[in-house]
Amino acid sequence: MAQIINGKEVSASVKASVAKETAQLKDEKGIKVGLAVVIVGDNPASRVYVNNKKKACEEVGFQSFEYALDESTTQEQLLDLVDVLNRDTRVNGILVQLPLPKHIDETAVINAISPDKDVDAFHPVNVGKIMIGNYSFLPCTPAGVMELIASTGVEIAGKNCVVIGRSNIVGKPMSMLLLHKSGTITICHSKTQNLKEVCANADILVAAVGRPNFVTADMVKEGAVVIDVGINRLENGKLCGDVDFESVEKKAGYITPVPGGVGPMTISMLMKNTLTAAKQQVGLE
Ligand code: NDP
Repeated sequence: MAQIINGKEVSASVKASVAKETAQLKDEKGIKVGLAVVIVGDNPASRVYVNNKKKACEEVGFQSFEYALDESTTQEQLLDLVDVLNRDTRVNGILVQLPLPKHIDETAVINAISPDKDVDAFHPVNVGKIMIGNYSFLPCTPAGVMELIASTGVEIAGKNCVVIGRSNIVGKPMSMLLLHKSGTITICHSKTQNLKEVCANADILVAAVGRPNFVTADMVKEGAVVIDVGINRLENGKLCGDVDFESVEKKAGYITPVPGGVGPMTISMLMKNTLTAAKQQVGLE
């Protein structure tokens, strides 16, 4: 039976260390850390994410600046706001909640955020730095997964690591981070052949597919570390991951639950990136 990796606990410990350093920065150097969160329109899921981020800012002692813009906001207006935030010294990190309404080009907005304040690490400069392995910010979800794997004590070097999914926010950077830790990486996607056999060979399996209960026990190696990034809403309103938890739990060595696994980590890594940004902006890192 797998050991459950408790994302809430790991996340709480990351936030506690961010809170401690934030308090020190304020007390010893008079520096306040600030995160600006921009939301356009009224997507209910985005609203929940933004509220959680605001709450996390309060927990760690950051100032949070929220900009809730109307659905009809033009791209130009949003870019103007980003420009103002890029120059606002109270703001160390800028997060524009995705997805944006269809009439706004997300790439243009991401590219307009100053790379120094890009705490989501979506800007091409930061993406390139991740590729090279010389990064300031790691994208929050894959970085959170790395913390969860570290919490198991399982060494990544030399292990077969399989990532299902190749998106720019999860799959691709996830693979890079595992590679930087000297794992042997296979990236799977919708065109992958023999997916079951490939996954069943993984010592570390990360699922970022977006399909409920996609990973079944026959796809999992005995004793593997199984990380479930998926967040899927079922018809009955319940949340579930990409991994069939009930069957896989019996075979894996470690497994993350949904909810309570990767989800809480994403926000705590955002807090960590914002603190890093603040330190870099005052020349402390
Ligand atoms: P995307 O839809 O962008 O990517 C999904 C990936 O899964 C694609 O690369 C796709 O392949 C692959 N895929 C789809 N079907 C199959 C299949 N049958 N076999 C193999 N691969 C397949 O999703 P994201 O990466 O943005 O998100 C993935 C999941 O993670 C979602 O459930 C999302 O909600 C969740 N998520 C959770 C976060 C958290 O904080 N916990 C944060 C971000 C995302 P192809 O490229 O060929 O189409």
